[in-house]
Parts: sequence; C-alpha cells; structure tokens
Amino acid sequence: MKIRLCGQSLSELEAWMKTLGEPGYRGKQIYHWIYRRDASSIEEMTDLPGSLRQLLQQKAWVGIPRVIRRQLANDDLTVKLLLEMEDGQRVEAVLMPYSLERSRDRLTFCLSSQVGCPLGCAFCATGQAGFVRNLDAGEIVGQVLALRREVSEPGEGINIVFMGMGEPLLNYSEIIKSLNLLHAPEGIKVGYRRITVSTAGVVPGIYRLAKEGLPVNLAVSLHASNNVLRNQLVPLNRRYPLEELLPACREYFTLTRRRVTFEYILLKAVNDSIYHAEELGRLLKGMPVLVNLIPVNPTEGGFKRPSSEQIQLFIRTLRQLGMEVTLREERGGQISAACGQLRGQLEAKR
Ligand code: SF4
Repeated sequence: MKIRLCGQSLSELEAWMKTLGEPGYRGKQIYHWIYRRDASSIEEMTDLPGSLRQLLQQKAWVGIPRVIRRQLANDDLTVKLLLEMEDGQRVEAVLMPYSLERSRDRLTFCLSSQVGCPLGCAFCATGQAGFVRNLDAGEIVGQVLALRREVSEPGEGINIVFMGMGEPLLNYSEIIKSLNLLHAPEGIKVGYRRITVSTAGVVPGIYRLAKEGLPVNLAVSLHASNNVLRNQLVPLNRRYPLEELLPACREYFTLTRRRVTFEYILLKAVNDSIYHAEELGRLLKGMPVLVNLIPVNPTEGGFKRPSSEQIQLFIRTLRQLGMEVTLREERGGQISAACGQLRGQLEAKR
C-alpha cells in the first residue's frame, strides 16, 4: 500500500523515514515540501537524494485533491473548487477574500468535512443529496493546500471555517487530527483562534470539543428561535433540542473562553419576523454570543430571501435587545457557493 503524504504529521514522516533506513530529518524535508512549499509531486522535492525520490515514487504519493472545476464569483475574488478524492468522490471548498468578521486583509478558506451530509437540513442542497462518507484528515487538509494554490501570496493570515459540506462533529477524530495538522508550527501554521468549527448542534461533540483544550471558535447553525420551527429546518434538533444545545454552548464558552457564534439563515416568511427576532433575543439573553445573519441563497429548497427592509428590521430588533449581530453577505452566491450546489449540479449531469 502506498502512503499518502498529505495528511502525515511531522513525527509520522520522521518515523517512517527511519523505518526506510533514512535519517529522520528527511521526514522534515518532505513535510516542508508538502505543507510549506506546495509540492504536487515527489519529483519536485529536489533537495532529497535521487535514490530516495525513486524509492518514494514506489512507496508514496503526494495526494492533494484534484481540481475538477473552478468557479469564480462576480466579485472576481471568491473562488469555489470542486475537488475529487482518490476514490472519485467529490467535495467543495471555497476561498473567500474576507474573513467572516469582514476584515479585508484576510482570506477565509471554507472546508468540507464529509462527502454529503446525513443531517438533511431543509434549506441545504448537500443535506438533500444525502451522505456518502467521512473525509479523512489528509483529505481535509488537502483542501487547504488546493485552495492555497489559488492565491499568489497566501501569507499566514488565513482563516479556516468548517462550513462546507458535512457535519464536522460527526467526523470527530479526523477533524481533531486535521486541526492539529493545520496548526502545526512547522507546517501550515494557522492559529487555532483563526479556525472555526461549525456544527448543526451535535451536543456530545460540543462537550467533547470543549474539553480538547484547543481554543478554536465554535459556530452553531441555529436558524430558528424555537424547537417547533427548528425541528423542521434542522431535523437534528429532534435529537438535541434547544434546551440541550444551549447549555452545551455555555459550557463551550466556560471552558474555552471563546465566544460562540450562532448562525441564523434568514428565510422569508419562515423565520424572519420581528416575533422571531424577539424570541431569538430572549433565547440567547445573557450569553456572550455573536449572531451571524445569513440571508438565504435560494436553492432547490424553494426558500426566498427576505427584503432588505425586513433584514434591517430583524437586525435592529436584535440589537435593541442587546445582541451583537453581523450580516454575512452570501459571497459567491452567483457561483452557487451555498454548500452542495456545485457538486449537486455536476452529479446531476453525470
Ligand atoms: S446545512 Fe450543514 S449540517 Fe445541515 S445538511 Fe447542510 S451540510 Fe449538513
């Protein structure tokens, strides 16, 4: 069996080199080629002796996911990649020019954690298409390496959000492995505080993540201010209702001191009234949270985006209740950047 280099940690590569009778530092050289120098093939690793490169050709491959399609949004900055894994499965990864906090000097990479998703949220193309399999840590980190190749000077100021296809906390161990690979100082070197794990509300996963001692940000896809509505929009709510989800979020803040962000997708005539805003304000009262509003990007679910006036009214109501609120523009709406749409279109064609 050949080894996929993308996804190996520094210590794994050093140990592997020793088993091949090579000095451990060769592992570090390979590690740098993969995670720092963006090598796509073993031939590019020119500071390795020719004999070792030959041996590596037989025993390993780099394994960055293949770009099947690249779409550029009208803003000329947001890029969405459809990436193919070795088994032919495809996921999406998106590069956004600004962070979710909208600071202009930052890039945000939005990653997928699963092929498809088992949770079936009502407004989500990925959820409607069903679940195929989990991604492993190498496939997750490979998305970052593929996205980084789209940027001339990526620097070290990237943010990473797990908001693409899939539910990260249902792929827990590979997510933790990928967080460690993303953070590794000799490698990609992204600060934990620049990484956001998003969940639809997998309560045991939130408690577990809180205890990992990794100060990553948590975003919770809330989307509704009461259980009745949330049961319809996010079916996982039937398993972990709000009275279980919110205490888990409080615990996350207590243990990590990281403020939780609640994502709230605004759906016309479904959850966008003043009544819902007031109910949301009451629900989150006293919690140190940020509410991030996302006007829906119309998908097959048939939902409509509220008017600008309604969105502003919703924001004003929440702010009057003392909530901190941001409005996320659906960057790349024109390129179907809502999760699952690009893959869905291509699968339909296939
Ligand atoms: S919104 Fe996220 S959690 Fe819900 S179905 Fe889509 S990918 Fe899964």
